[in-house]
Amino acid sequence: MNGRLLFGAVADDDTGASDLAGMLAEQRLRTLLVIDLPAQNQFEEWSAGHHAVVLAEGTRNLRADEARARTRAAIQLLKSRDPRAFQLKYCSTFDSTPEGNIGPTIDAALEELGEEFTVALPALPVNGRTTYKGYHFVHERLLSDSPMREHPLTPMTEPNLVRHLSRQTARRVGLAPFESVEAGPEELRRRFERLRADGVSIAVVDCLSDAHVETVCRASADLRLVTGGSAFGQGLPKVWRERGWVEEFDAQTAPLSSTDAGGRGRLVVAGSCSVATRAQNRRFVLSGAPAFRVEPRALLSEDFKRASLVETLRRQLASGRDCLLYTTDEPAEVARVQSWAAGEGLDVQALGQRLAYALADLVAEILVGVEVGGLVFAGGETSGALCRRLNLGALRVGRNVEPGVPLCYSLGRYRLPVVLKSGNFGGEDFYGRALEAAARPAEYIF
Ligand code: ADP
Repeated sequence: MNGRLLFGAVADDDTGASDLAGMLAEQRLRTLLVIDLPAQNQFEEWSAGHHAVVLAEGTRNLRADEARARTRAAIQLLKSRDPRAFQLKYCSTFDSTPEGNIGPTIDAALEELGEEFTVALPALPVNGRTTYKGYHFVHERLLSDSPMREHPLTPMTEPNLVRHLSRQTARRVGLAPFESVEAGPEELRRRFERLRADGVSIAVVDCLSDAHVETVCRASADLRLVTGGSAFGQGLPKVWRERGWVEEFDAQTAPLSSTDAGGRGRLVVAGSCSVATRAQNRRFVLSGAPAFRVEPRALLSEDFKRASLVETLRRQLASGRDCLLYTTDEPAEVARVQSWAAGEGLDVQALGQRLAYALADLVAEILVGVEVGGLVFAGGETSGALCRRLNLGALRVGRNVEPGVPLCYSLGRYRLPVVLKSGNFGGEDFYGRALEAAARPAEYIF
C-alpha cells in the first residue's frame, strides 16, 4: 500500500479537516490528517501506508492570492503520491466572502490538476445542510436567515450558491438540479457532461438526503477533483470499495505498535468556552481529579506562578494522574476579558489567538519535563495552536470516541494518542471517555 494514494484532500480549516478525516476513518480507510505543509520527504514518510490524506491548510480567511498559492502548493504535494481523487474541502455552510476563498481555491486546484470541470457539494444532510435549486439551507432556514448571517468573518447574506460562487471566480458556475440528482447517478453524470459542454466549469449540486449524497458520489467518482463538505467522506469510500480500489489491510503499522503509555498520566487542555466544554470541565473538577485554571489576563501578562504550576502538573502526570489545564470561563467573564483586551488594542480574534498560543506554550513547557500517556484538547482554535506549537505534525485518524470526534495518534514530535474536540462536541463525560480511549489506542487506531 506504499504506492498510490487513494484520496488526497485540502481543507480550508482544521476542524473541517478533522471532520472529513473522521468520516473517512469511520469508513475504515486508513487516514492521515496533516497540519500545514510538511517537507516532501517528511510527507512521504508520514503518508506511506495510508489510503487517504487530508491536509489542513487554514486557507479560509487568508487573502485570496495567498489562499490560491497555498492550495496549489498543497495539491502539488499530494500529487507526489498520485491520488486517484482529490477534494477541496470547505465548510457545509459555504463560509466565504464575495471575494473568496472558495472560488479562488477551486480555480487554483483545477489549474494545478489541469482539469476543466468539478462539482461543488457543500450539502451535508446528516447535519441539516441541504441545497435545493442552488439555494442552501441550514436545517429549516435559508443560509442567509441562519446564524451564519452574523458571522464576524464570513457573513453569509446570499443563499443562492450559484450566484455567490459566480462572484468568486471568472469560471462559469452552473447548477445540477434536484431533478437530475433524484433521477440517479447515470442521469446526473449526463447532466455533468451537458453542463461541461455548455462551458460550465463548476457545477453546484442540489442535495437533500443521504440517498442524494450517494447518488452524487457515484456520479462524481470518476472526476479527478471534487469540492465541498465532508459528505464525500461519507459516500465515496463505498463506491471505491465496489470498484476494488481500496486495498484492505489487517496489521498495524510499526509506529503505533510500539506504544507503551501504561502508567503515565494524560493531559486534558481546554480553551473552549462553549456550553459543552464548560459542563465537561465541571464534571472533571467534581470527580476530584487534578484541575488547574489559568486566568487569561495572568496568562498573557505572565503574572502567575508559572514555574510552580508547571512543576505541580509534571508531578501529577508523572505519578500517573490525569490532569486538566484550562482557561475556560463563563460568557460574562469572557466578555470582560474581551473588553479589557480591546483597551489593549486586541480585537476578539487577536485575543483568542494570543490566548490559544500562550496556553499552548505552557503545555509545551510542561511536556518538556514529563512523558504523558495522551492528550485531549477542547476547542477548535485551541487544538490548532496546540498541534502546531507541539509539532504534532501528522495524526493517524482512528475510530470515533463520540460522533465527530475520533481518537488520533500523533506521528510528529510526540508519538501518542491525541483527541481534538471542537467546542460544542461531546457529552458531559466526554473527557472520561476520551481518556479511556487514549489508554487503549490499539482498539481505535487501525
Ligand atoms: P470552540 O471550538 O469552542 O470555538 P476555540 O478554541 O475555537 O473553542 O475558541 C475559544 C477561543 O476563546 C480561543 O481563541 C481561546 O483562546 C479563547 N479563550 C479561552 N479562554 C478564554 C477566556 N477565559 N476569555 C476569553 N477568551 C478565551
